[in-house]
Amino acid sequence: MKILVALRRHKWRYVAFVFGFLLFVSPPALLIRAAYHWMGSSANTDLHKVCFRMPWDWIFSGDFAIFEGRYLMISFIIAVLVVAFFFGPLFCGWLCPVGSSTELLSRLMPRKCKINLSHKINPAVLRYGFLASFVLVAVLSTYAAGLGVAGICCRYCAASQFQNIVNVIFHPTELAYWHSGGIMVIGAWLILGGIFWQGGRGWCLYNCPLGVISNIFHFAGSKLGLTYKIKHDPTNCTECYKCEDVCPSWAIKRHSKEIDINRHTCNACLECVKVCHKSCFKYERG
Ligand code: SF4
Ligand code: SF4
Ligand code: SF4
Repeated sequence: MKILVALRRHKWRYVAFVFGFLLFVSPPALLIRAAYHWMGSSANTDLHKVCFRMPWDWIFSGDFAIFEGRYLMISFIIAVLVVAFFFGPLFCGWLCPVGSSTELLSRLMPRKCKINLSHKINPAVLRYGFLASFVLVAVLSTYAAGLGVAGICCRYCAASQFQNIVNVIFHPTELAYWHSGGIMVIGAWLILGGIFWQGGRGWCLYNCPLGVISNIFHFAGSKLGLTYKIKHDPTNCTECYKCEDVCPSWAIKRHSKEIDINRHTCNACLECVKVCHKSCFKYERG
């Protein structure tokens, strides 16, 4: 089966996926548990403590006071972005349980059943379009808090819904806390943008503020020439385009032997490095 071939080819990445789950998602949530233990806090430890979405809502709406005491969340965001700047969005490509789960599920689906618009649209344009609307909602919700608009961003969060799904597996009564926004997210993230999406990263491409901002940092870092990034040397390319097929982020665009790598979506997963039988891809500095 294709998924077994993929797992074998790049096994350490899939081991990292398991670590990502164990580190961030409750019940284990080992990293979050350890950090809260170290801070002497007895608060609940789950994926919400390193929220991917609301910190950006607070930043763009100027609500900085809310960060008080949220040391783990602040450290997590800074760490993800610093790593993205110097080494690429490694959290997205190697650890994030939200993106990794849909990528794996998508690999189980036959290719002909999956949405693939990679040749029709530039994912970077839609990514930045999403970010612009996210900022707009954050700003508007600040002024319209009295109208009940505030909090819209939290309802539509795949990370939150991922934790809710796991909670229900361990405690079925948690289903009582599901809301209509969360069910819509399951449709958009897990089903449409995941299982039925070529690469399984539809939500990551168009709906995650942490993902798009990580790629802005990666793009900026790659421009400096001192940081790590994927490079392609066409000399030995046989134009098989397995690399394009395997890229979960629609970051590879072919023009005959020339291949463009879109730094606005590449998540440094190294699938292209592993799949190319001519070693045309390298992950290196400079
Ligand atoms: S884009 Fe967001 S959801 Fe996707 S892998 Fe990155 S952090 Fe996770
Ligand atoms: S997998 Fe390698 S040989 Fe095949 S198209 Fe991509 S770069 Fe060329
Ligand atoms: S270009 Fe390569 S490293 Fe970047 S997302 Fe695609 S497969 Fe992964």
